[in-house]
Amino acid sequence: MGLRVFNTLGMRKEEFVPLRDGEVRIYVCGPTVYDFIHIGNARAFIFADIVRRYLEYRGFNVILVSNITDVDDKIIRRSQETGLSMQRISEIYSDAYFEDLDALNVRRPNVSPRATQHISEMIEVIQNLIEKGFAYQVDGDVYFDVLKFEDYGKLSGNKLEALEMGARIEVNPKKRNPADFALWKSRKEGEPAWYSPWGWGRPGWHIECSTMAMKYLGETFDIHMGGKDLIFPHHENEIAQAESLTGKPFARYWLHNEWLTVGGQKMSKSLGNIITVRDALKIYSPQVLRFFLISAHYRSPLDFNKESIEQAKINLEKIFNAIERLLSLKERSERGEDEEFLLAQVREAKKRFEEAMDDDFNTPLAIAAIFDMVRAVNTYVNRNGEIEAATKSEVYETIRVLLEDVLGIKIEVGKREKTRSDIINSLVELILEVRQEMRRRKEWEISDKIRERLQMLGFIIEDTPQGTKWRLKET
Ligand SMILES: [Zn+2]
Repeated sequence: MGLRVFNTLGMRKEEFVPLRDGEVRIYVCGPTVYDFIHIGNARAFIFADIVRRYLEYRGFNVILVSNITDVDDKIIRRSQETGLSMQRISEIYSDAYFEDLDALNVRRPNVSPRATQHISEMIEVIQNLIEKGFAYQVDGDVYFDVLKFEDYGKLSGNKLEALEMGARIEVNPKKRNPADFALWKSRKEGEPAWYSPWGWGRPGWHIECSTMAMKYLGETFDIHMGGKDLIFPHHENEIAQAESLTGKPFARYWLHNEWLTVGGQKMSKSLGNIITVRDALKIYSPQVLRFFLISAHYRSPLDFNKESIEQAKINLEKIFNAIERLLSLKERSERGEDEEFLLAQVREAKKRFEEAMDDDFNTPLAIAAIFDMVRAVNTYVNRNGEIEAATKSEVYETIRVLLEDVLGIKIEVGKREKTRSDIINSLVELILEVRQEMRRRKEWEISDKIRERLQMLGFIIEDTPQGTKWRLKET
């Protein structure tokens, strides 16, 4: 069975079929660059990165476009507060955004278009919308007329009548309908402005994304992503603008990730509980942070708290530890009897990993499949000191590709502090090597004594044609 994704448009899981054979085009709503990104933003960007990586793993050529909103009320306010120009503010925070993505091993988008570099395209789109009767101008502002777009509400499920009643929409006498939204805002004192057919002004936020998505990905493309908070009004409005203009479907699959809470609460400025990626990285490694953020399914809420992230750290250590044990096995030229079993288990687990990812990117189940591999490796290493080189490389490569290439977790071995169990393993190996030497010299008394004493300590020792195996007695 192929890949299935949960499409917010229609609210159901669907088979994923790209528009063009072998190619997937994705748009991800990028940051408004007025501050550092926080770990909730990071969850969305990491999820988009994993979708991209998994599609590439599945053989698709992926084109990912993610905008940078560099003109917005928040940037203007920040500029007024700090005395720095709007350009300087957006430069500082877009540089910081890319640094944070790099730190989290989120691959950079193929294109990161900036809103201020696409003003003429936006003006053209707005002009077209006015000509087609979907938008109207009032005193230098241009609004989208939601009543003209029949499908308005199809993404969010919000009915227009309900919107009109809603207290969330501010009363604006210029609008024909309270749910109409601004495509172009006339200049206000102290704000940046561009010249347009409606006078000086600047574009609204929603038109930026529609315009840039269509410019780089075409009128219809495959996947549009973003946090759940963007469904309404942002994505609903993006659809209204683009589909009114072209008469064609805009994005075919809409994927939205759930909230990240902190200590059970939504992150917000007013609660003062916003954790930036930078601050989180002062305490946790990027691998641990990333591993934690994908430990829940993207459509499930996830809470950032000390216990959960410590647990993620321990789990990741277990994976790295098993990889290190595998890599430290001595290589031999022929395949031993336990190896077939190890390979079979690893291949089966790889299938489970793919099934999990095919089922709407179920990362917790995919991680569970990696743990099945970890257990198989540990069982093997507990019983064997050697492995055929080809087996070692197949097992390692399987884990490496899934962990590094698909989940984006870089394997860290060698530079970790050795754990107590690593030391015990090495010590037992050393003792068994000495015993082997004694046996070769027919020093039976000493070799039997070593075996006896190890057994008294709880080790089970078996001499087989493939060498001496050991494991700890189950307690
Ligand atoms: Zn957007």
